[in-house]
Amino acid sequence: MQKKYDWKNNGSQGYPILRGRRNADAVIIGGGLSGLSIALWLCKAGLRVTLLEGNTIGSGSTASCGGFVSLATSMFYHTLEQKMGQSVTAAYAQTQISALGALREIAGEAQKALHWRDTNAWLVAKNAREAQLLSLEADAMKRAGLPCTPSKEMHCPFPGEDGLLIRDMATLDAAGYVKYLTKRSEQLGLRIFEKSRVTSVDTNMVSTQHGSVLAPYVIVATGYPVVNTPGWYFLRLMQKRSAVLQLETNAPFDGMFFDANGDYALRRSYGGMALQMNLDRVGMSPNMIVEKEFEMAYASYLDGVSIDSTISGIDTYSADGLPYIGAYSKKTPNLFVATGYGGRGLIGSMVAAQSISAKILGLQAEGYSIYEGQREGKKPSRDEVGASLSIAGHYLQGVTNSKAPRCTHMGCKLVYRPMTCMWECPCHGSRFDDIGHVISAPATQDAQIHGSKRM
Ligand SMILES: Cc1cc2nc3c(=O)[nH]c(=O)nc-3n(C[C@H](O)[C@H](O)[C@H](O)COP(=O)(O)OP(=O)(O)OC[C@H]3O[C@@H](n4cnc5c(N)ncnc54)[C@H](O)[C@@H]3O)c2cc1C
Repeated sequence: MQKKYDWKNNGSQGYPILRGRRNADAVIIGGGLSGLSIALWLCKAGLRVTLLEGNTIGSGSTASCGGFVSLATSMFYHTLEQKMGQSVTAAYAQTQISALGALREIAGEAQKALHWRDTNAWLVAKNAREAQLLSLEADAMKRAGLPCTPSKEMHCPFPGEDGLLIRDMATLDAAGYVKYLTKRSEQLGLRIFEKSRVTSVDTNMVSTQHGSVLAPYVIVATGYPVVNTPGWYFLRLMQKRSAVLQLETNAPFDGMFFDANGDYALRRSYGGMALQMNLDRVGMSPNMIVEKEFEMAYASYLDGVSIDSTISGIDTYSADGLPYIGAYSKKTPNLFVATGYGGRGLIGSMVAAQSISAKILGLQAEGYSIYEGQREGKKPSRDEVGASLSIAGHYLQGVTNSKAPRCTHMGCKLVYRPMTCMWECPCHGSRFDDIGHVISAPATQDAQIHGSKRM
């Protein structure tokens, strides 16, 4: 049996804090899957790269990654084709396929370090309505050049009216992958600094509390981007919570299963199974009790099930479902962003590594223009407009109520979540610990909490 997933507790490699001034060819802010993948690609090309991590390597969203590697994790291609057209959808499929190929190569190089396991994946429709939509999804995927086969022959423990089979997907151990990326990049010259939260980015100068790095290329890989303007990503991104449960069960199953609507993902893991449950938006509703949700929605389908462990985290979601990867804005060609993977960070971060390194090295990167932050967007939906109005409300509550603890990102009123002992920002999803230390971006400064009422 493999060792249990425990990166969060064993993550720190004891890298130093950045002190004083350094020069580099490229500086990367953030040591998660994005920052580390981009670092490896740039180091391979011979660049001198410095990576600044505010906490410890792999401690952000990456710490909860469930190791599902699939070109489809919910119905997406049909909607993308309808919103953005067939050529964008084909470019999306091709760049994702290329990223999967690169990931597979790394797994080969790393031998057993990633615990790579090839497996077939199914999108599972729960009812007749979803089954209808799944057939549209299959057509869109095929038009985009992504082979898939309608197939009810699946051994999914959860109800399935119909299924769509995508062959030769995989699972891996995300902790092993992060360790491999880190080790390999260091061998190629990467300099890593931990506990070095970036507090300002000024053209080609990146500053932390105790030091700074001067570099012609700056890459913001902080999950939610910490630079507000240019780019204005805070108007187009949200953070959502999900959880991975390690389960012990006698339920027979084979393969990897994704709810067609994106509610769950299921795979074999550590002799039992890993169930990923996709939950709610950060700060918008009281935290769900994950185990209770599991009992209500899934437990009855799994014979003799018990929960071994639960790990939850947050990831960034873009308004149109495509990640933002590329130049921060048209006016800043040397400042890059990589975010908005919407729960598909293993492949997304590899797309970021391939795309951003190609741009820095002056190589052809045409298919990747679909990910540029300045792409033509669709009109915002009703839900998005509603969410923006609610954000404006929280912002006003923050500025009009002098006693409310405020988010240091843009001043919205923070809400306390007793279950996780965290303060959360309903606007953009920054999180702070009990006493106000910043835990996750976009905030870069600690919040003033003293004396505030936890409600
Ligand atoms: C529960 C869960 C399960 C998931 N499972 C899967 C899966 O099975 N397959 C899959 O493909 N994807 C999965 N994902 C998504 C995937 O984990 C993320 O998309 C991915 O980890 C994002 O990586 P990142 O490097 O962009 O962000 P992060 O991992 O959040 O890294 C950003 C880093 O930047 C640092 N940082 C922030 N602000 C600053 C600053 N000011 N200065 C310096 N550093 C800073 C943070 O400390 C953090 O370490 C899952 C996500 C969650 C929440």
